[in-house]
Amino acid sequence: MNARNAFDGEGVVLVIGPAIAEDLPPVVREGLARRTLVNTGQTCPCGARLVVPSRAARRRAVRRQEVLHVTVEHEDDCPASDAAIEDALRSRRPR
Ligand SMILES: [Zn+2]
Repeated sequence: MNARNAFDGEGVVLVIGPAIAEDLPPVVREGLARRTLVNTGQTCPCGARLVVPSRAARRRAVRRQEVLHVTVEHEDDCPASDAAIEDALRSRRPR
């Protein structure tokens, strides 16, 4: 596991990413590395970015003590897409 702190002026955000095991297929390792890039505020090579919720949404979440959820839209052919990672892991499982 790796973690990174970021300060957005309103609070501290802790981003926890997965450990990227050496024995994973290269396409899965690339997908997880790309997800880590996006989760730490960088842009995926496919162009996907983490879109921070509006200030109003962030304040509302703090007031209600709720967790903010974000969605990142990777391109269909990006190794970080859900489908790409699921396909790579599915093909790796013994049958
Ligand atoms: Zn991507």
